Amino acid sequence: MPIYEYYCRACGRQQSLLFMKMGDVQKSPQCQYCKRRRLTRILSRFAYHQGEEARLKNLDTNAPRDETFYRDNRNVGLWAKKRAREMGVELGSQFDETVEKARSGKILDDG
Ligand SMILES: [Zn+2]
Repeated sequence: MPIYEYYCRACGRQQSLLFMKMGDVQKSPQCQYCKRRRLTRILSRFAYHQGEEARLKNLDTNAPRDETFYRDNRNVGLWAKKRAREMGVELGSQFDETVEKARSGKILDDG
């Protein structure tokens, strides 16, 4: 299932959109936040993943997380992932899906 990163030119928010299949990928999807069709695809999926790996590496699970940590939606699920890795637990693709949903605001409303 393709997941693309978008930047909304109307409200300036970044979001990940998950499409069930390639054929569902829309040229102008709707912004999840302001509902306008001003999304620009960000072609940085690869870099984004690298970023997450780097974030995972740098994340200290023993350090207290302040509220700003979760203001960056890329940090949602990161802590749980890191902890799981440290404990040798495989979270599986379902967890990744949940994280993606959370990051794109489908579960958490970060208002
Ligand atoms: Zn928007």
